[in-house]
Amino acid sequence: MKFLLENNLAKLAKWLRFLGYDTKTLEGPITFEELLRNRDRVFITTSKRWEGTLKNLGIEYLLVPREDWEVQICTVLKSLGIEPELKLTKCSYCGGELKSVSKEEFKDRIPKKAYETAYDFTYCEKCDALFWKGLHYERMVSMLKVALRRCEGGEGKNLRSHEG
Ligand SMILES: [Zn+2]
Repeated sequence: MKFLLENNLAKLAKWLRFLGYDTKTLEGPITFEELLRNRDRVFITTSKRWEGTLKNLGIEYLLVPREDWEVQICTVLKSLGIEPELKLTKCSYCGGELKSVSKEEFKDRIPKKAYETAYDFTYCEKCDALFWKGLHYERMVSMLKVALRRCEGGEGKNLRSHEG
């Protein structure tokens, strides 16, 4: 499954990439041209008024609420039956493939503390970004867990308690 996202869903795009999905974000407004060019992707949008058009064009789409990324990712994962597993195989900035690298190769770019404690270093050749797992990774895992409770049983709005 590949995704095309409306341009107001940048944060959701980032999380779909964390989950390993090929995700593109529109740079401008929704247009017929863009939709047709990307018809091999599931279009994720908050724009109800495009629904009729999307149906007519036969484009797979998913409507998500105009709330925050937590409710949105929760809706996407539950509606499409996607496992909430952080694969971290795609660059969260540009969507490029990440390849494993050794930290020694990038020693001068890694903060000292991360160099000593982090693991699983990966690199994006497309945009020259460097990633690693550390404390923030564990934080991401729990953020996703919290997000997944935001839309359960269609009662997302009642679950706005601020945990953690
Ligand atoms: Zn990249």
